[in-house]
Amino acid sequence: MTTTPMQLTHHCRNCDAHHPLHRVRQCIPADNTPEGEVEVMVCPTCGSYDLEQLLEAGHAE
Ligand SMILES: [Zn+2]
Repeated sequence: MTTTPMQLTHHCRNCDAHHPLHRVRQCIPADNTPEGEVEVMVCPTCGSYDLEQLLEAGHAE
């Protein structure tokens, strides 16, 4: 198994914060899906769902 370094791959359009995937990914119960839950992206800072995935990670500002 390889360990990937923590990358800030998600950007919150609401509060302009950057977060790694594991910080924004959450599973919430959903009765209308076969799995019984659905994966959503939520900003851990402001709770917004308006997250943008950054395809090119690796270059810090
Ligand atoms: Zn936010």
